[in-house]
Amino acid sequence: MNKTENTAPTPEVKKAIREIRINPIVPTESVLVATARSMRPKKEETPAPHDARVRVDTCPFCRGNEDKTPAPVAVIPQEGEWQIRIVENMFPVLGDDRENPSFAFGLQQAIDGYGRHEVIIDNPSHGIRIHEMTDSHLAMLLAAYRNRMDQLYHSNDRLKYVLVFKNFGPAAGASIGHTHSQIIAMPVVPRNVQAEVRQSALFYENTHQCIFCNLIDEALTFEATLYDRESGALKRKINVGQFVIEKSKKFIAVKPFASRYEWEVHILPLVHSADFLSATDQDLADLAGLFKRTMARLNVLLGGVQYNFFIHSVPHGAEYGGNANSFHWHIEICPRTSIPTGFEMGSGLSVNTIAPEDAAERLRKVSLEDKSDWETEKR
Ligand SMILES: [Zn+2]
Ligand SMILES: [Zn+2]
Ligand SMILES: [Zn+2]
Repeated sequence: MNKTENTAPTPEVKKAIREIRINPIVPTESVLVATARSMRPKKEETPAPHDARVRVDTCPFCRGNEDKTPAPVAVIPQEGEWQIRIVENMFPVLGDDRENPSFAFGLQQAIDGYGRHEVIIDNPSHGIRIHEMTDSHLAMLLAAYRNRMDQLYHSNDRLKYVLVFKNFGPAAGASIGHTHSQIIAMPVVPRNVQAEVRQSALFYENTHQCIFCNLIDEALTFEATLYDRESGALKRKINVGQFVIEKSKKFIAVKPFASRYEWEVHILPLVHSADFLSATDQDLADLAGLFKRTMARLNVLLGGVQYNFFIHSVPHGAEYGGNANSFHWHIEICPRTSIPTGFEMGSGLSVNTIAPEDAAERLRKVSLEDKSDWETEKR
């Protein structure tokens, strides 16, 4: 028996939430939201100091060191000084250099590690962070993701999914200090993407609606009032707009109701679209602004943010052709502020120690008025 359970509740404990929230899209995934300090079974990640250097002589991704990387698969723009370079990963986790046969022995099966693993050098400036890049550069980067994904999907039928992601900061697994993203084209559709695709298709089968669109509508419904059925008296007012962090003309950034990570934020197009590849340059220009402001909010609030983000888009291939109405592409941003423990790994239950609605409120309240705090081009 925990000793703290016998003491009088402090104001924090009174307000504390302890509930298991079911992920509305993938109900088999749930999150324990436990906000009282005494209930935190997590270790906090130590923030890493930010390396703001513009150029590092020994860095293979800095301008002037182009000969230290494999030959680029894309250089953007094609003429003049490069702004973005895509190169093959020197230590690919998947490769197309040899054809390994698949093997199966009893219940133990393997699919060969066929695929492509590439690095996108996001920006010539070594230590620049997403929220410090110009809107136009960010739009160019998002277009580079889209165009390279498109090329890879069309390069080989064996590639079933193309995942774009970014690790930023040592806690997020970034091994090279220079800002970069990665693309992995793989011979299988990752399990989490499959789960989202299947579950949203099931919802569509039952309702003829996209579950992601429904969640956006819920997020944009500012207030719901519940009345008592008999007396008609006001029972409860729910502020359901509490999960919205940013909204632009075409995109919305929301804090998921069942967030696995304390500061997790998802970005979705407001108008239904299953495939990131169908985003136009105008869409991406609008997304760039919203993405940048969202990252700035996280950075201000966390005093430097280490994170992973990745894009979930409908897989290509004939068996996914029927998912255009039910799936909705999105970006998941997962800031790393704590280290998962045995409880999380063993239970498969994520533990979130900050109520998502409180996290959303704090993110919304971050003032971005004084742009000198977070905008670059002054370096
Ligand atoms: Zn560098
Ligand atoms: Zn939708
Ligand atoms: Zn997703």
